[in-house]
Amino acid sequence: MTAKDPAAVVSRAAAGPPVRILWVFDFDGTLSPLVPDRTEARLHPASRALLRDLAADPGNGVAVLSSRSLDDLVPRVPVARAFLGGGSGFEWRLPGGHRVLPGEAAERKLAETREAVLPLLGRLSVFPGVDLEDKRWSVAVHFRRVLPEAMSMLAPLLAEIAALPGIRVFRGPSAAEVLFFRGANKSFGVRRLCRILNFDPASGRLVYAGDDENDAVAMRWILSRKGTALVVGDRVRVRGARNVADPADLARVVRALSRQLGAGSGRREGEGAACGATK
Ligand SMILES: [Mg+2]
Repeated sequence: MTAKDPAAVVSRAAAGPPVRILWVFDFDGTLSPLVPDRTEARLHPASRALLRDLAADPGNGVAVLSSRSLDDLVPRVPVARAFLGGGSGFEWRLPGGHRVLPGEAAERKLAETREAVLPLLGRLSVFPGVDLEDKRWSVAVHFRRVLPEAMSMLAPLLAEIAALPGIRVFRGPSAAEVLFFRGANKSFGVRRLCRILNFDPASGRLVYAGDDENDAVAMRWILSRKGTALVVGDRVRVRGARNVADPADLARVVRALSRQLGAGSGRREGEGAACGATK
């Protein structure tokens, strides 16, 4: 990254005291139960309490990293002290509301790529059962309602899009995510957050929880840095990660992990109980 990288600029101002443990959570399917209508996705109550309790400890950095746009994510995570990442970490909102955006060059490239790829994606939308979700930095192609016999016609079109230069496609069991920047996956997002926080995974501890292929890329990087990865549900497999059943189970496991890691360099004033001290 160059000195002009907005994340590097912010890191000099750094947001708060040094972070000892950085907790990063995906949103959909990880902190919020998957729902048929994605506009209805909400934080599970156990997830909300978990984020607030973790964030009450100044030794913790707490982040929610989603492929949703930042504007979509922010109202879904009403936790003032959380770092919120949209577009798989292209856009970050810091506690206090300051936003770290990718800059003009990335915006220009995004506009060019969208212009080239959206017509192809439009061809997918004529398939019965296909639902396109435009998340600005990516488009999710939902096909859970597509009949199995129609999938054989859809797959070559997805492959054609995946072959375009600069594009990356993550295939899941019920959706494909088309990224408009090949390298801008959640591993990129986590590394960008580390720069914002001046956080060195070699001297701190990274914990990541997620549920899909985009998360798996981040989890593999985190495991390579001796961090901890938690897979929610059974939609993806990551060697070395621990599996949990659902958002409520995740909250229980993370609280236990927090106690085990000795999180608790103190409680911020005006906050509730530190993580691990509550049910
Ligand atoms: Mg997810």
